[in-house]
Amino acid sequence: MNQMPQVTEMEQAYLERDATYEGLFFLAVRTTGIFCRPTCPARKPRPENVEYFPSVQAALSAGYRPCKRCHPLEVDDQPGWVSDLLAEVEGDPAPRITDGDLQTRGIDPGTVRRYFLRRYGMTFQAFTRARRLSRGLNQIRENGSVDSAVFESGYDSHSGFREAFARTFGDAPGRYRNGETLFLDWIRSPLGPLVAGATSEGICLLEYSDRRMLEAEFATLGKLFNATPIPGTNLHLERLHGELEGYFAGTVRAFSVPLVYPGTPFQRRVWEQLLAIPYGETRSYQEVAAALDDPKAVRAVGRANGLNRIAIVIPCHRVVNKNGELGGYGGGLHRKRYLLDLERSTMR
Ligand SMILES: [Zn+2]
Repeated sequence: MNQMPQVTEMEQAYLERDATYEGLFFLAVRTTGIFCRPTCPARKPRPENVEYFPSVQAALSAGYRPCKRCHPLEVDDQPGWVSDLLAEVEGDPAPRITDGDLQTRGIDPGTVRRYFLRRYGMTFQAFTRARRLSRGLNQIRENGSVDSAVFESGYDSHSGFREAFARTFGDAPGRYRNGETLFLDWIRSPLGPLVAGATSEGICLLEYSDRRMLEAEFATLGKLFNATPIPGTNLHLERLHGELEGYFAGTVRAFSVPLVYPGTPFQRRVWEQLLAIPYGETRSYQEVAAALDDPKAVRAVGRANGLNRIAIVIPCHRVVNKNGELGGYGGGLHRKRYLLDLERSTMR
């Protein structure tokens, strides 16, 4: 992987549309979900909304879509069939384009594989999968924000989400014959749609669906469990559904669904310490570090806290600043406040 320049240097480069930085980095805009070349002619995003990536692959894997103005996927000597394929996938990433489909178009699948691997660091199939995933999640995010009336009416299945989610994945089932299955499902909540994941062992993911890192998280989990994420449900996910419903109703104070949270020994100790914080209470980062007999590890505790993959159930929202301020929260401070208020209100 190539080494990116310093952030201040990259910021300067894209503000000045400096062509000498072409290929050295790509910038992605969190608010729009689009990634660009440093020389993009579009209006400059605010630096605080920009995320930098060393490669097209990294930007795609993080769920960003290529900009329609600066076409970051294109290169000067790009063959016509590549441009055609890219345009086709960008127009609608849902249909599967098989090796047979490629051959019908007079394109050699081996050539496609080699080209995509060399140019984008991923196979054509992985490329289209990343685009489907990104589009499906964006649909879930958009539905989730405009569809608040549905949230209030309960947790029953809503076809729009289900379809968007199913379109996202749904490769031929034969692909998943080997290894563990990682089921992904969405769960409606008063805080917006949550995406949940489970293996046969237990819940391994619960995240707010508007978090940009979700796509990358799926890839990480897939590697950790040697599994391909597919839409679906299992007993653990069904149990989580029920327990979360109770939690948000204020009737469930402890989760009993099994959890799997692979991590470093230190991270696992932190997460276990979080699980030990009682419902309705909070601890400071210092207190968590002290409970680990590692009082100097405050910052490391903060980092491990931020890497928690099972929001709400592993209650990282119960860790606050020493002065009583809320501190940070990956899902946004309004959600942290909501969870803490919910827990305190049911304790009265
Ligand atoms: Zn652009």
